[in-house]
Amino acid sequence: MKPVFSVIIPCYNEEEVLQATYSRLDAAMRSLSAPYELIFINDGSRDRTGGMLAALAREHAEVRALHFTRNFGHQIAVTAGLDAATGDAIVIIDADLQDPPEVIPEMAAKWREGYDVVYGKRARREGESAFKKLTAWGFYRVLKGMVGFPIPADAGDFRLISRRAADAVRAMPEHNRFLRGMFAWVGFRQTEVLFQRDRRLAGETKYPLRKMVKLALDGILSFSLKPLSWITGLGVVLTGIGTLWLLVLLILWVAGRGGGGNAALAGLSLLLAGLLILCLGIVGAYLARVYDEVKRRPLYLIAERHGYGEADEPRVNSEHSSEI
Ligand code: UDP
Ligand code: MG
Repeated sequence: MKPVFSVIIPCYNEEEVLQATYSRLDAAMRSLSAPYELIFINDGSRDRTGGMLAALAREHAEVRALHFTRNFGHQIAVTAGLDAATGDAIVIIDADLQDPPEVIPEMAAKWREGYDVVYGKRARREGESAFKKLTAWGFYRVLKGMVGFPIPADAGDFRLISRRAADAVRAMPEHNRFLRGMFAWVGFRQTEVLFQRDRRLAGETKYPLRKMVKLALDGILSFSLKPLSWITGLGVVLTGIGTLWLLVLLILWVAGRGGGGNAALAGLSLLLAGLLILCLGIVGAYLARVYDEVKRRPLYLIAERHGYGEADEPRVNSEHSSEI
């Protein structure tokens, strides 16, 4: 039976939580009384996640498991889920139960009212460090000021989307993916559902600082060209200051008073060199992304899939993937 709901669950080394996640998620989906599928993406886990998912797919008809050939990252895992989903409404949820599955029926109700994107907005965050909360708070505000369309603050990837919104995002082939920005970009009718973000059920975060910085940069650089125009602005200001500086020196020289000292000059050139390299770095960050796009590599590779039976050909082979 064709599912009405598809749930995408990206998993990276989640052996400690998988069983509990499956049970709570399955109970929440069952309460909707409509056919559903649970699509687990094993993003190159090194623990027992892969085996556990294959077993779940064997035991339960609703479960599918896709195994990546290596760790491609959370946003790419969700993208593979979008490619594989066959439902009319698609839910994206973390594997660690920080996003409570019990909120999904509320999201589904909004979808039935006609909304295309129903995102979960974090009313409170439990059990996360002050540093994470503060940087997340600051990031969403900076991002808001930099992009030309509204990106909801304090909303992660936990959301329900309609088939047409999902297809719109799937048609965006970009490599450096910041999905919550892409879902905001496509427009349609959007709304929020408030929820309390719990602490991780077990295990530790799979988002170390390095991955968080990458995600934040993807968000800003994929959706805003403002840093580039800042560079131009900076160049204009510095050129103005330099011209004035030289004029003053010229006047002093004409008046026979000599010109500034070497120390001042050294300081000035250090500052300018620093600014120049920083600007070069910003230009380079955009260039690197252009390079990533022109290579046109597939976004991910799938090594194995479970839960499709023999005849049932999955829709995983889209423009985003290659089977090996
Ligand atoms: N995840 C993934 N690939 C990665 C990192 C994370 O699929 O490279 C998954 C992870 O298993 C979880 C979700 O993405 O289901 C969010 O990760 P996590 O809970 O560790 O992030 P946090 O909530 O700490 O920001
Ligand atoms: Mg988490």
